Amino acid sequence: QAKTQGGRRYAFFDIELRERMQRHLVLEQDLHHAAPQDQLWVAYQPIIDLRTDRTVAVEGLLRWRHPVHGTVSPGEFIPLAEESDLINSIGAHMLRMATHELAAQRQRHRVELRLNANLSPRQLEDPGLVSTVQQVLADSGLAARALCFEVTENAIMHDPSTAARVLHELRELGVSLAIDDFGTGHSSLAQLQRLPFDSLKIDRSFITNLDDSDDLRVLVTSIITMAHSLGLEVVTEGIETARQLELLRDLGSDQAQGYYLGKPTPIEELLPAHPLSCFPPRGPRLADSGPE
Ligand code: C2E
Ligand code: MG
Ligand code: MG
Ligand code: MG
Repeated sequence: QAKTQGGRRYAFFDIELRERMQRHLVLEQDLHHAAPQDQLWVAYQPIIDLRTDRTVAVEGLLRWRHPVHGTVSPGEFIPLAEESDLINSIGAHMLRMATHELAAQRQRHRVELRLNANLSPRQLEDPGLVSTVQQVLADSGLAARALCFEVTENAIMHDPSTAARVLHELRELGVSLAIDDFGTGHSSLAQLQRLPFDSLKIDRSFITNLDDSDDLRVLVTSIITMAHSLGLEVVTEGIETARQLELLRDLGSDQAQGYYLGKPTPIEELLPAHPLSCFPPRGPRLADSGPE
């Protein structure tokens, strides 16, 4: 098929492009019904503290069960929601679901699990955000300190003064704040240092190639050192192997997240009937420490 003639290849691309545009349009339309028709759900991925080898938090990640297209990833539909003004209602819906589910799990299993939730640029600029957050905390009974918002550098740089004000307001409520995907945007630690962040998540792209790059190791080490000197906890994202986990532990990362430690799962599968059996999580070195 690679040897198809130019004309035919164009025709092929044309069909592919049209299909992609059609999918885009359909999904954008259908997204309006996603929340009302109960097609959205939250998957939870554990965040492990490397000092205790215990799950200290879960990141809530939206999923869309589309009646025709099956599971649509947030990488595809969050941008659509951002374009179409739906992001604020979908974001509020997500927060309602996640705070209620987590509050219930915390009670049922008597665990101090924090919920991390992502905020997109438009959500950060929504004048109703702070009151939405107050509302979902009050309704769910989840303590403010059990909630952490993750925002990317780009979300902050989009409108820095609004972002700064909103982040301070959120911090006032008692929630904590994390810089997400650090290293992929165009901010500096100097700029971020003025904002009330508690932790910094090093982007997965740094971790993926860590094994065979000394330069990358030096870079990650210096990010960790700088973050610590600014009083930020460091979380590394995208840990997929035991080797990466040990490396990041040695480099001084405080917490870690990734498929190796746990994939995003439905809330029912997050904590088994025996709550402590998933603390600490599986993994060769982790298994040594045994449950308490
Ligand atoms: P993120 O906040 O950086 O979330 C981490 C993403 O990396 C998730 O993808 C997660 O499944 C994936 N991931 C975690 N560990 C690994 C790993 O070891 N290897 C690999 N290859 N991937 C890993 P997901 O769930 O597809 O979410 C993508 C992005 O969509 C998120 O990136 C976040 O920016 C956005 N998103 C998800 N849920 C929400 C939400 O409720 N609200 C908003 N505003 N954005 C959301
Ligand atoms: Mg995140
Ligand atoms: Mg991230
Ligand atoms: Mg990301």
